[in-house]
Amino acid sequence: MANRAHLQGRRWRRTFRHGAGSVARYVGNRPVLAGVAGTLVAVAMAALTLLTLLSGRTDALDHARETSQNLVSIISSDLERNVEIYNLSLQAMADGAQRHLGAGLPPDAQRAVLFDRATTAAYLGGAYILGPQGEVIASQSGDINRDARFTDRDYFMVHRRNAAAGLYLSHPFRSRLRDGKLSIGLTRRVNDANGNFAGVALLAIRIEYFQRLLERINIGKQGSVFIAMDDGTLIARKPYSPQDIGASIARSPSFVRMAAHNAGSYVAPSAVDGVERMFTYAHVPGTSLIAVVAPAVDDVLAPWRRRATISGALTLAFGAVFVAVSWLLAFALRGKLRAQAALTRLAATDPLTGLSNRRVLDNRLDEEWRRARRTGQPLSALFIDIDHFKHFNDTHGHASGDEALSAVAECISTAVRRSVDVVARYGGEEFAVILPDTSADGALTVAEKIRRRVQAQDILQGGDDTVAVTVSVGCATCVPAQGANAFDLLAAADRQLYVAKAAGRNRVSAAQSPMRSMT
Ligand code: GH3
Ligand code: MG
Ligand code: MG
Repeated sequence: MANRAHLQGRRWRRTFRHGAGSVARYVGNRPVLAGVAGTLVAVAMAALTLLTLLSGRTDALDHARETSQNLVSIISSDLERNVEIYNLSLQAMADGAQRHLGAGLPPDAQRAVLFDRATTAAYLGGAYILGPQGEVIASQSGDINRDARFTDRDYFMVHRRNAAAGLYLSHPFRSRLRDGKLSIGLTRRVNDANGNFAGVALLAIRIEYFQRLLERINIGKQGSVFIAMDDGTLIARKPYSPQDIGASIARSPSFVRMAAHNAGSYVAPSAVDGVERMFTYAHVPGTSLIAVVAPAVDDVLAPWRRRATISGALTLAFGAVFVAVSWLLAFALRGKLRAQAALTRLAATDPLTGLSNRRVLDNRLDEEWRRARRTGQPLSALFIDIDHFKHFNDTHGHASGDEALSAVAECISTAVRRSVDVVARYGGEEFAVILPDTSADGALTVAEKIRRRVQAQDILQGGDDTVAVTVSVGCATCVPAQGANAFDLLAAADRQLYVAKAAGRNRVSAAQSPMRSMT
């Protein structure tokens, strides 16, 4: 069992090595691909980092929203609970006033009856019963200012007009009875026995209560937190600025959204100072108040921005290095491939004539021989030798001899047209041609063409002096058979070359009948 697993493992490793080797070869031969792949990998990494950063940004905003929602709900429940307590006291005050005013109780007894359940909370500015003309009838403290009138207060007008107003929270006002301290009034209507307007029960809550509630909340350097009435009047705000209290933000487009929905969250520039903030708000149940927590988007995103800058810069730097290294390697690889190709070309060509050299001839002859044996097609070979070349050299010099060699090579290559044909310099002033899929007749035609071309070519000899050069060609053709040798074909062509030389040169000689097999 273990042995099988071991074998399987070896097979996997071999397959992997093979696959990796193929990929390496494939890329190794396509240097641009290495550069492009490197670039793509870097771009993909950068995209991945960008996605991660963007989701980090969303997370930071989500987290801030959750925190804000929690804070809003703490403020809201504190307000709700306190207003509920004040409301109970107010209810008792209004009921007491209806029952006992006009009963002619002495002031102390009257005060005890009216205000016995009125709360003594820390921020309570005072508790009052106002009469139908806006005059003070009774106060928790016992001080009654007979001259003061409160008919101009919003709560007074609301209750006088509307018997069903219930608990009414007034707009902030400066107290006339308590040194102009900013307060808001929690009020209920007092009815007489017939249900007609008989006055207002009023609990004045010092605005500090709201301000203190907000002071406890830490909202960042540029954040703000505030309590507003549902008509847009600001009751308290942190950071605190006296002129904000009582101001209206009703006109700001963002407040319209707060007024329209019970609770929510959105990002907008502030109506007070223009800073972009994330507003999270909720209406306080049972009141006309809205609690709003609004951290600045800059504060929320500051830690994320720091992280994003660092990892973004690092990703860019690493990506750029990666791309640069990929392309450096790609260019180096390309240079190497070019040098290799040039070397291969050099190793395969004869420097004087530009023809294939002997080594290429041997390889191609062997290949073509085996192919002809498979396909059963004839294979022909020509052997070409320049006539009296020693004499030519002796007469005109070796430099002219080399020139003549190049000219003859040119004649042979232009006469041999097919791409599979091989033209090679065999050595000295001898050339060999291999003609695959070519019959004896075809080979003879090519040989004759070469001979004529060489003869027709004038080899320049300085000035206008020209000298003709001729060649003799030997042809051999065979259909290769098992066990035979490719080089016997060349030998046969060589023999025919000697026949041509013996017959007088500047001619072609071919074996009388093509060889069927050579063993
Ligand atoms: P033939 O072939 O007609 O019998 O006479 P030949 O004078 O050509 O005889 P052979 O083929 O034996 O002579 C070869 C001569 O070719 C020897 C040398 O002078 C010349 N030769 C061989 N290689 C080169 C070469 O690379 N450059 C030059 N210039 N001459 C060469
Ligand atoms: Mg020779
Ligand atoms: Mg010769």
